[in-house]
Amino acid sequence: MDAAAQSLRGSPASIERMYRQARADDLAFYETSGGVRNAVEAGRLVALTGNADYRLKDVSQPYVLPATRTFVQRIAAQYREQCGEKLVITSGTRPQSMRLANSTSKTVHPTGMAVDLRRPTGSGCLAWLRRTLSSLEEEGVLEATEERNPPHFHVAVFPDRYSRYVSRAGSNVRLASATKEAPVRRVSTRASGSATYKVRRGDSLWTIARRQNVSVEVLRKANALRSSNIVAGQLLAIPSGR
Ligand SMILES: [Zn+2]
Repeated sequence: MDAAAQSLRGSPASIERMYRQARADDLAFYETSGGVRNAVEAGRLVALTGNADYRLKDVSQPYVLPATRTFVQRIAAQYREQCGEKLVITSGTRPQSMRLANSTSKTVHPTGMAVDLRRPTGSGCLAWLRRTLSSLEEEGVLEATEERNPPHFHVAVFPDRYSRYVSRAGSNVRLASATKEAPVRRVSTRASGSATYKVRRGDSLWTIARRQNVSVEVLRKANALRSSNIVAGQLLAIPSGR
């Protein structure tokens, strides 16, 4: 078992950390689905709707705290980019009346701070998810455990700490973006047979080349680039010849 997997092993201490954080943040533990509905109406919980990067599977109460939704959107965008598949969410808020028989009385699911992520079947995706969750855990912004029945990651996102982390991380971590895989917008086409593309945040020469079906080398030559560094807003000529 590698270090990342090791750090995600559940323990009474880890359950206690999640529970204490929920209490420290003064989070409400919703008793019933009616309580959850009221919290949604009041804006304290928000809906997970799924997007290009993640989907829901059998989630009866797809509502979470706003910080937890931000976490889902960010990690799902990165996951899809790394793995080429959507992340699957299997649980959001579970009010106390819906507590599972095998779950602890200290579960934080009734607060909406926790989500369950289905365990990826591919070993590369699994390793990436383990690494990413344990590094976020080291940042002190969440607590994650890997569970067996059914195989999933239980992730409790600490709202205040995670929100501060996101504002620090800013644009270093890409946000979920439905436009990411959208066709490249060509802002103009010249008679010479080349088009112009405006670099967007998160683009790399490699991703642009792949989408445009040209090689990085061709792109560099066409734009007289000495390195692969590009910046958002920069205009690139996209040669139409292959
Ligand atoms: Zn869980």
